[in-house]
Amino acid sequence: MSFQKTARVRTRSQALQQRAERFFPGGVNSPVRAFRAVGGAPPFIESAEGAWLTDADGNRYIDYFGSWGPMILGHAFPPVVEAIERVARRSASFGASTGAEADLAERVVACFPAIEKMRFVSSGTEATMSAIRLARAATGRNVIVKFEGCYHGHADGLLVKAGSGVATFGIPGSAGVPDEVAHLTLALPYNDLSAVEAAFAVHPGAIAAIILEPVVGNAGCIAPAPGYLAGLRALTAREGALLIADEVMSGFRVALGGALELYGVDADLVTLGKIVGGGLPVGVFGGKRALMDVLAPLGPVYQAGTLSGNPLAMAAGIATVSYLQEHADEVYPQLEATSKAVTEGVAAEAAKAGVPLTLNRVGAMWTWFFTPHPVTNYEEAAKSDTAAFGRFHRSMLDQGVWLPPSQFEAAFLSTAHGQAETAATIAAASEAFKAVKAG
Ligand SMILES: *Cc1c(COP(=O)(O)O)cnc(C)c1O
Repeated sequence: MSFQKTARVRTRSQALQQRAERFFPGGVNSPVRAFRAVGGAPPFIESAEGAWLTDADGNRYIDYFGSWGPMILGHAFPPVVEAIERVARRSASFGASTGAEADLAERVVACFPAIEKMRFVSSGTEATMSAIRLARAATGRNVIVKFEGCYHGHADGLLVKAGSGVATFGIPGSAGVPDEVAHLTLALPYNDLSAVEAAFAVHPGAIAAIILEPVVGNAGCIAPAPGYLAGLRALTAREGALLIADEVMSGFRVALGGALELYGVDADLVTLGKIVGGGLPVGVFGGKRALMDVLAPLGPVYQAGTLSGNPLAMAAGIATVSYLQEHADEVYPQLEATSKAVTEGVAAEAAKAGVPLTLNRVGAMWTWFFTPHPVTNYEEAAKSDTAAFGRFHRSMLDQGVWLPPSQFEAAFLSTAHGQAETAATIAAASEAFKAVKAG
């Protein structure tokens, strides 16, 4: 396959963007899609198959984005398409229970032993929001600890920026979040157990839960330091607080059982999303049986959803998760090998070109940080040269490689990515680093 060295024609995408701007703020229905962080007009997508996206002007791109994570088996994976088609003929939704919900739940429990009971919702945001309500009710405490750079959806209490010290309560990370709500969230540096120790000391008996991405994706990819997750587990157990593992991104991605399996830790509550819906809107929160039974209709914590457990979404989830379960022995080693080849190949091109780069990768989830320094938390990630990343992103896009449009988003690949895509990506990167150097 050949790669153009000059900007691709995107006149139809540009026209679609102008039209979209009449209806949607920034022309988008989710903000990062507007490509503000990297500049340039975002291509509109017409279709995708396997590892490849096709835009409205007929340009093709190798997709390292996978709809922000779900498409681990590649786009339009035939078993997923067939499952959705089959179920759609029987009506898209009933507002009543179907057997498919327990079919998917059984698979979720098999992959995540920390989940004994669960509830399906329609997004990761709903999952984390509900998990926190449940944690507060179960502990009778109000304060939540999160970590700088971790994203847990856009519920008010979770949109809290970096706090400057362990004794400092967070400030709102978004206009419209009342201080009264933000003040109940403590934002601490990731990978720093002593900061968590100090927070428990300063707020005795007040912290309901710690929520974290056990592998961070939303500050770019950051792995937990050895012993960090086990340390959090021990601290929360000692202090009577709950540990919420937000595996919306890492679940089924870094291992079949997510980061909890990969690092051998337990959690009180787990949230899932993205892959578990196979590209359709699904979120999950689940955990220990006694904890989950605090939910309505058994207990006093209200939580509901008109389309929760939607049949189409369950069908896509079952088709995806069952394939991953049945082929785990091939899928995960393959994802590891392809990801290693792509990421290290690109990093080698950076070294050849003299562009400082730090590669963080956990399985098929990674970030090339444009910094010579190690990245173990958000503060270090934020030192990256985002202008250089922008030049890299634009050049890669022009050569047909679709990367997430921010330095602070993880990239992904799928089982549909192979040697041809790997070679083409490394060749494109070699050109892109020249553009980075040229400034
Ligand atoms: C994507 C994501 C969410 C939010 O999920 P939505 O479905 O976008 O609401 C929450 N937590 C993590 C770790 C995520 O990556």
